[in-house]
Amino acid sequence: MKVSRGRLWVQMLKDRLIIRQGGRCRICAKVIFVEHAVLDRLDGIGNFTPENTRLVHVHCGILVRRRRTARGRHTSDVETIE
Ligand SMILES: [Zn+2]
Repeated sequence: MKVSRGRLWVQMLKDRLIIRQGGRCRICAKVIFVEHAVLDRLDGIGNFTPENTRLVHVHCGILVRRRRTARGRHTSDVETIE
């Protein structure tokens, strides 16, 4: 199976962030595994860099996105590549 560069980058970023965050979700602070994690961009128009992303649970990411949407801000700031 061909793996795109973008996908590889996301995987690398997730591995890095999970170490940086001590294996905890940045929203609920519970244990998180890469398989159940999504990348949440702090700045929705920024790039997927270690500085601009944090690792959160899939469901936590959805909650945050809803909250942001409710405030009328960007809506597509949670990366859904898994
Ligand atoms: Zn969480």
